[in-house]
Amino acid sequence: MSTSLTGRRPTDRELALEFPFFGSDHDAFRARIRARIVESVLPRAEAWEEQHGIPADAWKELGAAGLLDVGHTGEDFLRSAVLLEELGSTGYAGIRASIGVHAYMALSYVLLFGTPEQQAAHVPAAHRGERITALAISETGAGSDLRGLRTYAAPSGSDAAAGFVLDGHKSYVANGMGAGLLVVLARTRRPAPDAGAEHGLTGASMLLVDADSPGITRRPQPMLGWRAADITEITFDGVEVPADALLGRRDRALMQVMRALDFERLVAGLLAVGGVRHTLRLLDEHVRARRVKGVPLASHQSVRHRLGELYGEFDMVRRYAFHAAWLHSKGRLDTCTASVLKLRSTELALAAAQVCAQYHGAQGYLEGSAVARLHRDATAGTIAAGASELMRDMIFEAS
Ligand SMILES: Cc1cc2nc3c(=O)[nH]c(=O)nc-3n(C[C@H](O)[C@H](O)[C@H](O)COP(=O)(O)OP(=O)(O)OC[C@H]3O[C@@H](n4cnc5c(N)ncnc54)[C@H](O)[C@@H]3O)c2cc1C
Repeated sequence: MSTSLTGRRPTDRELALEFPFFGSDHDAFRARIRARIVESVLPRAEAWEEQHGIPADAWKELGAAGLLDVGHTGEDFLRSAVLLEELGSTGYAGIRASIGVHAYMALSYVLLFGTPEQQAAHVPAAHRGERITALAISETGAGSDLRGLRTYAAPSGSDAAAGFVLDGHKSYVANGMGAGLLVVLARTRRPAPDAGAEHGLTGASMLLVDADSPGITRRPQPMLGWRAADITEITFDGVEVPADALLGRRDRALMQVMRALDFERLVAGLLAVGGVRHTLRLLDEHVRARRVKGVPLASHQSVRHRLGELYGEFDMVRRYAFHAAWLHSKGRLDTCTASVLKLRSTELALAAAQVCAQYHGAQGYLEGSAVARLHRDATAGTIAAGASELMRDMIFEAS
């Protein structure tokens, strides 16, 4: 794939150094991470897809390989940006989503809103891959519009030390079967009977729930793509949750979710950029090698133009992704930037996967092929962590 006017392919080092906030230490970090992914992820990736999840011992290996504990804030996040792009480039969106949810999206709630005691109880074990985290927000009736939230955590007593009794049903939870810790969104105050849909998320809270608590039932909820992501539906039936499981202030989940979602979309965007890079590499190799009518596919102008568009768009989105990562490292990530990145990177991933499948012909449509996996995985990226339409709405509102 060429993105330079000279026609020569820029090396990753050259590309990385174009961003003034990346130095040679990031370059060395990228090389190290890439080597660890080659060693710890790729050899077992197919097996994890077939098993619909990453097994417990493999999580520990990922932790030992330093893939689960790169920082969420400040300069550290620039290294995370490199890691997320590299994870995205594995070609397995289920694996990258699983790691992204555990090490970034779910854990961010503990890091952002947890007390020192909660962080000490959960973060080190998560970094070592000993206890996996999952984020249980969505319900069948509450996805893009969380006002339909039904899961309810009733106070189990009248004094301040009383905990909660949790009832409800969560869907589409990545890492759900393997998780030890669930970060759960639940109402902690019943909306007034006449409140209608306008009560929004008022009176909802985030809770840290032990996934093995009595009263929790988990069932695999396999999807078309993201097969290694261990997607699960979870029922809470009279689950007793202690008072110290409350994350941050009671009834303040709306503000927490809004803040964490910007970060979630940044992470999803960086992972998707890696996914596009992988898809375009596969596509580039194919159109140069595959001959139709005696010449490589890449000799056909229509093919060159389609790929030229994708390469150009990839270059823009990747630069934007690193800009967003840099903004976050300075504490300045805003909802509009996070939404633009999430929208454009995942939509580009879908477009690239579609072209990749088309130019691979029937071999790319074989059930077990890498191209078919890219194709079915790409759709999920435009839905999970906020559907594209919601991103467009948010960009409009913020502009
Ligand atoms: C692979 C995968 C993994 C997931 N992992 C998790 C997880 O770990 N934890 C978790 O809590 N949730 C998870 N989710 C759920 C995800 O967050 C929701 O699917 C998402 O928020 C959309 O909600 P919904 O599926 O209920 O779709 P709905 O809200 O019913 O929307 C359906 C469709 O309507 C369209 N739409 C939505 N809003 C608008 C609008 N404003 N204007 C026009 N059209 C619109 C979109 O095309 C959207 O896809 C996951 C989903 C997927 C697919």
